[in-house]
Amino acid sequence: MPHIATTNPATGQVLKTYEAMSAEQLDGAIERTDLAYQQLRTTTVDQRARWMTVAADLLDAERDEIARIMTTEMGKTYASAQAEVTKCATAARFYADRAPGFLADEPADADAVKATRAFIRYQPIGVVLAVMPWNFPLWQVMRFAAPALMAGNTGLLKHASNVPQTALLLEDVFRRAGFPEGAFTTVLVGSDAVETILADPRVRAATLTGSEPAGRSIAQIAGRELKKTVLELGGSDPFVVMPSADVDRAAEVATTARCQNNGQSCIAAKRFIVHTDVFDAFAEKFAANMAALRVGDPMDPDTDVGPLASERGRDEVHAQVRDAVDNGATVLCGGEPPTGDGWFYPPTVVTDLTPTMRMWSEEVFGPVAGLFRVSSYSEAIEVANGTNFGLGSNAWTRDPAEQERFATDLDAGNVFINGMTTSYPELPFGGVKNSGYGRELSALGMREFCNTKTVWVGEGAASAGAGAHAE
Ligand code: NAP
Repeated sequence: MPHIATTNPATGQVLKTYEAMSAEQLDGAIERTDLAYQQLRTTTVDQRARWMTVAADLLDAERDEIARIMTTEMGKTYASAQAEVTKCATAARFYADRAPGFLADEPADADAVKATRAFIRYQPIGVVLAVMPWNFPLWQVMRFAAPALMAGNTGLLKHASNVPQTALLLEDVFRRAGFPEGAFTTVLVGSDAVETILADPRVRAATLTGSEPAGRSIAQIAGRELKKTVLELGGSDPFVVMPSADVDRAAEVATTARCQNNGQSCIAAKRFIVHTDVFDAFAEKFAANMAALRVGDPMDPDTDVGPLASERGRDEVHAQVRDAVDNGATVLCGGEPPTGDGWFYPPTVVTDLTPTMRMWSEEVFGPVAGLFRVSSYSEAIEVANGTNFGLGSNAWTRDPAEQERFATDLDAGNVFINGMTTSYPELPFGGVKNSGYGRELSALGMREFCNTKTVWVGEGAASAGAGAHAE
């Protein structure tokens, strides 16, 4: 049986457990979500925008309680949980405002295709399964749900087994906002049920945010079933610092970029690749900043870094650090978990890494930075692109020509110059290589789960042009 439970990572205490749905209950949930699709697809985008705006208002009004649940379930600091709720409300409003434009018919060159008129119409495709991770338990779901519902699709959420309360409250928010019953359904099941759900003919597509192994498994099932997928997987983002950089600022941002969300972010900077001319200055400042972060109770406003979400996750991070140290790496700060309750890990900087060490190529999902010394631009690019991942990337340089080169040469889904990777509803988000495929956010994210329909009209057409329709 899957273990679906709220366990407080700051204490290790199990607070609430849930029975996984039976096969009949799961079937009923899929049926409700499919029936809701038949209804939602006939609503206007303006109606859906009104519901989505109410959802945003509910999130704002209930921010503190939702944030408390998130902190209790996965250990992020309360302040960051509050910010996450606000970000979700912002994204909901973004799609409520922008969906009519994103879904409007797009005229094509009718003469070139020998039509009296031709255009592209964006339509929903049906029930979309969302398999989601615990690390941003509200945001990861909202950035799928807001565009999907606004497009007229319905969502079936299989959330991570350690955040069931957050999963259920989101279903409740969309229901209270006015969306038809079943438009957004949470199924409390383990990952072993994903194959059954994805194979169900009522489910048309899937989106996964999670690890590489989960991505491989879902892609395999979806391939067999010929279903569209978007995969947002892991990353080991490079953070390159070149000689012209503002080193103080880079070391400050590097600390946040590595330790945000207790170090458990797919787009956290994980490998710090520093030119030898500024290596010592950067290393000293970065290690001092990391060591100064306060680790402790995530509800305490003075805490910078809370616990990791699970004991297994904390042990895995420590095993990766031990592997490096046992093979000759140097720890500049941290490196030993504290004793006592909770799954805490101190901000840690490890240098003198070599390619055979796990930290060289694996994702480290905790507040642990690998620090690499390079002596040229080309060596920086070689190390930065030298893993199987390609999610985000960061480069620090004040040289405009070098900025251009980084933008082209970093093999990743995004490049942030003189800043840290962040997601915005306005910008597409996703990876290359083993970080996955497809894009979330912006108009592109919404259209991933649309039928991009070509409409060609020949002689005898009425005179109305494309552009008015937005389902
Ligand atoms: P995970 O173990 O892959 O779990 C993510 C979700 O997938 C959970 O709902 C999990 O269910 C389910 N799952 C796990 N194995 C599965 C399988 N074989 N088949 C079907 N479903 C499966 O990942 P995590 O530990 O929660 O999250 C951390 C990973 O997510 C990191 O690699 C991180 O970089 C990545 N991530 C990526 C992004 C992005 O946007 N690219 C964003 C956030 C996180 P259970 O909980 O029931 O096992």
